[in-house]
Amino acid sequence: MQNKGANPVQVEETSKKFNRSALEELLKRRYFYAPAFSIYNGVKGLYDFGPPGASVKNNLLQLWRQHFILNEGLLEIETTAITPEVVFKASGHVDKFQDFMVKDKVTGDCFRADHLLEQTIDQILTEQQGNLNEDQRSELVLLKTKAGSLSSEELAAALSKYNAKSPDTGNEISEPFPFNLMFPVPIGPTSKELGYLRPETAQGIFVNFKRLLEYNSGHLPFGAAQIGLSFRNEISPRSALLRVREFTMAEIEYFLHPQEKDHPQFNLVRDIELNLYPIESQMNDNGILCMKIGDAVAQKIVANETLGYFLARTQCFLQKVGIQADKLRFRQHLRNEMAHYACDCWDAEIETSYGWIECVGNADRSAYDLSTHSAKSGELLVAFNEFKEGPRMVDVIEYTVSKSAVGKMFLSKSKIIFSYLEKLASNQPQLAYLKKQMETNGFIEIEGMKLTPDLITFKQIQKKLSGEFFVPSVIEPSFGIGRIMYCIFEHCYRVRPNDEQRAFLSLKPSIAPIKVSVLPLMPKPELQAVIPSITDSLVELNISFKVDDSSTTIGRRYARTDEIGIPFGITIDYTTLTNQTVTLRERDSTEQVRIPIPDVAHNLSLLVSERFSWDYIRTLYPLEKA
Ligand code: AMP
Repeated sequence: MQNKGANPVQVEETSKKFNRSALEELLKRRYFYAPAFSIYNGVKGLYDFGPPGASVKNNLLQLWRQHFILNEGLLEIETTAITPEVVFKASGHVDKFQDFMVKDKVTGDCFRADHLLEQTIDQILTEQQGNLNEDQRSELVLLKTKAGSLSSEELAAALSKYNAKSPDTGNEISEPFPFNLMFPVPIGPTSKELGYLRPETAQGIFVNFKRLLEYNSGHLPFGAAQIGLSFRNEISPRSALLRVREFTMAEIEYFLHPQEKDHPQFNLVRDIELNLYPIESQMNDNGILCMKIGDAVAQKIVANETLGYFLARTQCFLQKVGIQADKLRFRQHLRNEMAHYACDCWDAEIETSYGWIECVGNADRSAYDLSTHSAKSGELLVAFNEFKEGPRMVDVIEYTVSKSAVGKMFLSKSKIIFSYLEKLASNQPQLAYLKKQMETNGFIEIEGMKLTPDLITFKQIQKKLSGEFFVPSVIEPSFGIGRIMYCIFEHCYRVRPNDEQRAFLSLKPSIAPIKVSVLPLMPKPELQAVIPSITDSLVELNISFKVDDSSTTIGRRYARTDEIGIPFGITIDYTTLTNQTVTLRERDSTEQVRIPIPDVAHNLSLLVSERFSWDYIRTLYPLEKA
């Protein structure tokens, strides 16, 4: 598996008008995030979150938990980041979790081969615009679309055809070669056991499938979820939070019967319209298809209801947290981009000034993960399906092993084979797999030992059974939290008309790092004395606040709170002293209402949870003249 998830970050200005440097300056100045270890000059691709950034991230995760874990009844687990090598051997990451890299032949600097190809194509498209005919242009555009999924040979051919050079120096580059993106970690003092920092949280769920199924009383379908850090040694980290080496993922593994991929709740999402970008549209350079997910599944554009259900739920979540609907699309993986075992994959991509960014991968991974871990560990990772109509005759596979011949051949190691076979007895899917291996290759392999038909044979017989064991399929929505955060910041960045200095973040109240500011009009003791009565009631209702009783003008203090996206502001003024009221200000409109102090916290709590809108508050309390 190539590290496909990271491919679509194209450093390309799609929105020329967007003032990215102003946004990034704001995010840096207000300490949303910053390069890690900067006092030691930092390390590329590692970022720390400051207070507002950490808070936005927590809010995002809380909403994710509510939207998915609570709503879908998922089983949340927390597994370790340090993972023994055997797990990633089984999953295929040791062999295939790689990107192709090229080296500058003089400086030794490294670049991702597919990105270099994309850049080279962009350059040709811009510089030779006038000289290209329509066929040449289309060929280049298509090649750029496919760059992330090309093989090493295809990349080599394309880089050479278009005469790609090292970007900064113009030097010759090497042939593309694979680079595994996992961070190795020696485990224990002797370092004999090799492990890796996980590049995704999913494997922690797969290896615990048996326990999760038991916990769920053996019932399928069910979904498990995990939120946690993942680590990828990206060749060229860039674009701040968009491609980093350590990032938080929120992943769902939804286990279901391979022949029953309908979703019980599909009716709830059937009419939701999605911007779909299927393979055909990409290959023919056509636009986006906006269609109801119900129609997309019925027309087999999206493979099945459960995958479609999660695409729609992903869209609802992204809009809820502040992503603009017209800047969201679902792009289907091209055939050669998709992992060989996957049936269908759709990335939720969000448009930003960096281009379309893949933020959520949604894949039907078939039964691949559980099958490979079952094969490697010998553990039964299957579910049982009782026949609805009662017992029936079914085909089953049995094996016969010649213990003496195996003992002779493998001596003390034969114990490993016998214990593997013992566990295999009722694992029909695995037996079927081994039978097929034997038929195709003339041998099977158990823990690296080759067994030929003189040692073990398989046969298919008929037996009366009440049900069958099967390896569940998996549908996986996989969210990159940092990327979504950055996209939210771009989509929520606003500048007040006629006032370049008054930029602010129009974050949804549920996402905003702090919910309300408390501002005495002036730094006078009689006004400051009112603060505790307000903040106490906010604490009671769990509403975060920031008091600013500095002598800066109220206008500048509002501007400061607007910059970090605080949606509401309470101002204590001289009227407060006469009638126990304060003003409540809304960030985007800058409107204020006058409201009695005892009503403030309760109304704010409803505003913050978005059960009350600002328009509704305006009907309850008088607007304060500006
Ligand atoms: P993948 O497993 O490659 O499909 O990645 C799943 C999600 O993780 C992507 O949709 C991204 O949101 C996120 N992601 C992958 N690689 C990175 C990275 N290097 N930096 C930040 N986020 C990433």
